[in-house]
Amino acid sequence: MIETGDLTLDHRIVSTEETDEDLALERGLRPLTLSEYIGQDKVKENLSVYIQAAKRREGALDHVLLYGPPGLGKTTLSAIIAREMGVNLRITTGPAIERPGDLAAILTNLSPGDVLFIDEIHRLTRSVEEILYPALEDHAIDIIVGKGPSARSLRVDLPEFTLVGATTRAGQLSAPLRDRFGIIQRLELYSPEQLAEIISRSAMILGIPCTPDGAMELARRSRGTPRIANRLLKRVRDFADVLGNGEITLVIVRTALDRLEIDELGLDSNDRRMLEMIIRGYGGGPVGLETLAAALGEEAVTLEDVCEPYLMQLGFLSRTPRGRCATLLAYEHMGFPAPQTAADAGQMPLAADAGQMPLIDG
Ligand code: ADP
Repeated sequence: MIETGDLTLDHRIVSTEETDEDLALERGLRPLTLSEYIGQDKVKENLSVYIQAAKRREGALDHVLLYGPPGLGKTTLSAIIAREMGVNLRITTGPAIERPGDLAAILTNLSPGDVLFIDEIHRLTRSVEEILYPALEDHAIDIIVGKGPSARSLRVDLPEFTLVGATTRAGQLSAPLRDRFGIIQRLELYSPEQLAEIISRSAMILGIPCTPDGAMELARRSRGTPRIANRLLKRVRDFADVLGNGEITLVIVRTALDRLEIDELGLDSNDRRMLEMIIRGYGGGPVGLETLAAALGEEAVTLEDVCEPYLMQLGFLSRTPRGRCATLLAYEHMGFPAPQTAADAGQMPLAADAGQMPLIDG
């Protein structure tokens, strides 16, 4: 757990990490079919074609890699894929598969066509990955039987199956593993309109009355992430029950999120601290990620996975080869005057340069 003053990241309400409370909440809210899954239109269209084609051929779907920031719907999509293919879903995570034998046990228990979902697949160890290669390509694994000079390799055939791998960092996947996925899809942060639709759907399922402008305001402050949208919906419901008549309205959302220190664009105190450090501590940047993390007392991966994707989507942050820079938009939002000197101005990227995440980030 990372200490950040009196606030710990584990308890950060806009953290994208999954908590036990989320698990309970999400169970009932996960869309079950592609048509119920809101947004990510390109991914849905492509998957729908691949699923139909695989069903027509009566074969398993090709292996799928889903990547993008946490909380965007990768686990949900894997369950939808299994359901649409009419097969079982087995769920595990990279860190849970410690030894090659663990993976061998999972693989040999699969039924024909099954979907095996491995979350955080970039965290598989090299020796586990090596078992996976022949399993993905030839539907077989090689098991070593015996020890010493009498040891021999035994090939065990597996049923045809589909691996769905999910990762927040596709760049950390080894090239041989990445090459074995026939379908690679990147999930994007959601637009406020799409999130408002997700919030209205969740509110209906949970029986919470919610006005359209209340849903839209909540959506605008949810960092493009359904997991955060659902979590904020639950928190705001408490305010609606106590301060109002139970209905989530624009006024209730504004009151609740102001109290939770989530600003009108969804930035929380950690995002603002990061921007402030770049602007005040490093003259707007460029500043290396590790330096920034040390200055803030955070872990670099947390900044990279949790804060940066959204700050970049807003056009507040740009990643350059020399480090992170705050954009003019960030200065404006944070209420700092734009830098005056020509040298500073030369360093200052415009929002348009504040890139989206690279396709495969290294
Ligand atoms: P990830 O695996 O990428 O971390 P999840 O699949 O666990 O994210 O999604 C988090 C929650 O967000 C889900 O429980 C679901 O309720 C909601 N969600 C995600 N994507 C969508 C979507 N496209 N439409 C509706 N709800 C979604």
